[in-house]
Amino acid sequence: MSSFPIASGPLARRNSRRVVISHGAREIIVGGGAPVMVQSMTNTDTADAIGTAIQIKELARAGSEIVRLTVNTPEAAAAVPAIREQLDRMGVDVPLVGDFHYNGHTLLTDYPECAQALSKYRINPGNVGKGAKRDTQFAQMIEVACKYDKPVRIGVNWGSLDQALLARIMDENAGRAEPWSAQAVMYEALVTSAIENAQRAEELGMSGDKIILSCKVSGVQDLIAVYRELARRCEYPLHLGLTEAGMGSKGIVASTAALSVLLQEGIGDTIRISLTPEPGGDRTKEVVVGQEILQTMGLRKFTPMVIACPGCGRTTSTVFQDLADKIQTFLREQMPVWKGKYPGVEAMNVAVMGCIVNGPGESKHANIGISLPGTGESPAAPVFIDGEKKMTLRGERIAEEFQTVVLEYVESHYGQGSHS
Ligand code: SF4
Repeated sequence: MSSFPIASGPLARRNSRRVVISHGAREIIVGGGAPVMVQSMTNTDTADAIGTAIQIKELARAGSEIVRLTVNTPEAAAAVPAIREQLDRMGVDVPLVGDFHYNGHTLLTDYPECAQALSKYRINPGNVGKGAKRDTQFAQMIEVACKYDKPVRIGVNWGSLDQALLARIMDENAGRAEPWSAQAVMYEALVTSAIENAQRAEELGMSGDKIILSCKVSGVQDLIAVYRELARRCEYPLHLGLTEAGMGSKGIVASTAALSVLLQEGIGDTIRISLTPEPGGDRTKEVVVGQEILQTMGLRKFTPMVIACPGCGRTTSTVFQDLADKIQTFLREQMPVWKGKYPGVEAMNVAVMGCIVNGPGESKHANIGISLPGTGESPAAPVFIDGEKKMTLRGERIAEEFQTVVLEYVESHYGQGSHS
């Protein structure tokens, strides 16, 4: 039997260690072949416990499986236990990660309840301290992590690369018969910083299965090169993300371009999309984009997908755009409830198409599809369920009626007592 000559799908996942990030009974597994986790970060003032707890709840509700928050001042550290309690009271058990720079050693030591309330610490080895203080302050943070049995992420960022280490790598390079380019030296410094600090943490007594690494840069090709090398040189789980990805479509496109290449190669155990929100914009967008990258790549399923055509000169109205938007929003809003009530519903596909050219064909491939009338077509919208035309909707209330059809389908196919 012959088959299509080019294989599809990602390469086998890279072999990484398994790290557990837990809060109470909730356990998030990163690495070791577990599904790629989606995480996010707050942008509230952590000292504002109520505002931060509300944003974390929104991020968790959108699907963030881990949420990081900055812990930058004594006030922020003091607020962390209150944030955790507030979340627990609201039934939000998402693990929290503290992001520490410069004074993390002091804050984690002076605020033991903060150290205890967090489920993981992010340590930026470039911002731990300078000179002789560097090693002791790094050791102090690792000591606290060991004491409370918390995993850490050694998170290198090229905006805050350890300058002493960079100088050392540059010196080594100068001694080469054929020195590397400045770019290659930078890559080497990033990867070395992550791996050497992880090894140092292990020497200090931390178990290797408590360490996650990241090396964030803001260029797509740079990120791909650095993570390929990092993946080749260690077995720690990797947190993927393009730092300072930017605003709007640029941030989304750059993150998607970089992450999808790496994920396709089996590299990456947890992701964060670092989008700059529009003024007044919704922070949960970074969660939605992360989920959509994983789902459109076929790596995970989070929410039913709407397949919609782009529209063209055959559609003169915005009816189908409105319908596609309404249905996508409706499905996403339902998911927090549906997740427990309708197992498997996240794999459902809904097609909303603009005219007869591709409408019926695409609709038949989806679980439920609707083909709206294009210009000159009779004002009727056939609905296809599991490949068969089941009804035709007409009139002003097509959107509401189609939503009802979707609900009935979900109930009958994924509800208790259904057989699919
Ligand atoms: S399905 Fe029809 S309306 Fe949509 S892009 Fe194709 S031809 Fe245009």
